[in-house]
Amino acid sequence: MQFENSLSFAQQLDKQDSLAKFRNEFHLLQKDGKPAVYLCGNSLGLQPKNVRAAIDQELKDWADLGVEGHFDGKNPWMYYHHFLTEKAAKIVGAKPSEVVIMNNLTANLHLMMVSFYRPTKTRYKIMMEVSAFPSDQYAMETQARFHGFNPEDAIIELKPREGEYTLRTEDIIATINANKEELAIVMMGGVNYYTGQAFDMKTITKAAHAVGAIVGFDCAHAAGNLQLQLHDWDVDFAVWCTYKYLNSGPGGTSGVFVHERHGNNPDLVRFAGWWGHDEKERFQMKKGFKPMEGAAGWQLSNAQIFPMAIHKASLELFDEAGIENLRAKSEKLTGYLEFILNEVNGGLSGVEGKHFTIITPKTPAERGCQLSIIVKENGKKLFDYLNENGIMPDWREPDVIRMSPVPMYNSFEDVYRIGEALKQYFNH
Ligand SMILES: *Cc1c(COP(=O)(O)O)cnc(C)c1O
Repeated sequence: MQFENSLSFAQQLDKQDSLAKFRNEFHLLQKDGKPAVYLCGNSLGLQPKNVRAAIDQELKDWADLGVEGHFDGKNPWMYYHHFLTEKAAKIVGAKPSEVVIMNNLTANLHLMMVSFYRPTKTRYKIMMEVSAFPSDQYAMETQARFHGFNPEDAIIELKPREGEYTLRTEDIIATINANKEELAIVMMGGVNYYTGQAFDMKTITKAAHAVGAIVGFDCAHAAGNLQLQLHDWDVDFAVWCTYKYLNSGPGGTSGVFVHERHGNNPDLVRFAGWWGHDEKERFQMKKGFKPMEGAAGWQLSNAQIFPMAIHKASLELFDEAGIENLRAKSEKLTGYLEFILNEVNGGLSGVEGKHFTIITPKTPAERGCQLSIIVKENGKKLFDYLNENGIMPDWREPDVIRMSPVPMYNSFEDVYRIGEALKQYFNH
């Protein structure tokens, strides 16, 4: 599509946008009495307005019913995860039985590693992207140690080529093949949090399976951002958080995907708790763990109703909008941001521009909504300037500004305003 850097053009795109109405479903931030351009949906999504009523409902049931809320509440707490799985499954491209909402992300990652990282003396290596999100690095490092391995030896880090910022799929495949005897598991991000690169999960999964390795993805930056097909891609497991693109509040709950070929295997090693036990017998308090079928069999504790109530409300908006429609708008919105950035930067993309370099891949299939830029001189100063002027990207050490226009509540006019602020900064 032919873009133009003008307010009227941006407003025209907003008029044609069938998802534009969802912006009103969120509490937009204000800066000096004007709506700010919020670009941190990759870190903490904005609050959906329907969340308050959802929490109030659970507070009311607790106040009125006490423990009976487990069975007599409007949304009986005993079965709460069921109210989330269908809509969550659509977001990640899974069957409802392959998905469960529970705990927090890093805790779930460890639970999945318990089941899926079963190293032997010879096949024990974990492959991940270099500079993965720190929590994932620490999780993999300590998993290796837990099994008696030295992380320096057990963890293979995928590094971009000299002078490049992102990974090439061909290099990922080559590394898988080069380690075919020793590779136990590939555990990487679906979208890298720093560069915004979306990995080719389907191709990676196929290559890893071909050498007998397991594949798990941390979809923290992919869920609610890309159109995932975890089931069809044959991914073994995945985890994600719900507070980033899924707008489910600080410290919000997390999602887990376990492919059905594993989920219905009760012999798979796992750390269990009573909420993963066969629901029909859960309150018989019997000895002997009998897991529920599917991902639900990995639950530990009784449901965290408040974070889950927020997630339930948020998922209703995703269901109404449709992840495929959101993704279609997202490609256009981020394409527009790229166009505007390139204009400010002297018309160049991917290569070094006048003021900054966009390090996120140019191909829409290789990215979500986020663009990451490295500014040539004093990036932190530009970041501070943008914030003072009502544009809110985020800053990641050592040198990246991340901007994530999200299709659910950002507008084309937002993107236009980013360009205006950048022009002012670089021209004064
Ligand atoms: C945001 C994020 C986390 C955060 O983990 P929590 O357990 O939710 O605190 C972990 N890994 C990745 C890849 C992330 O993007």
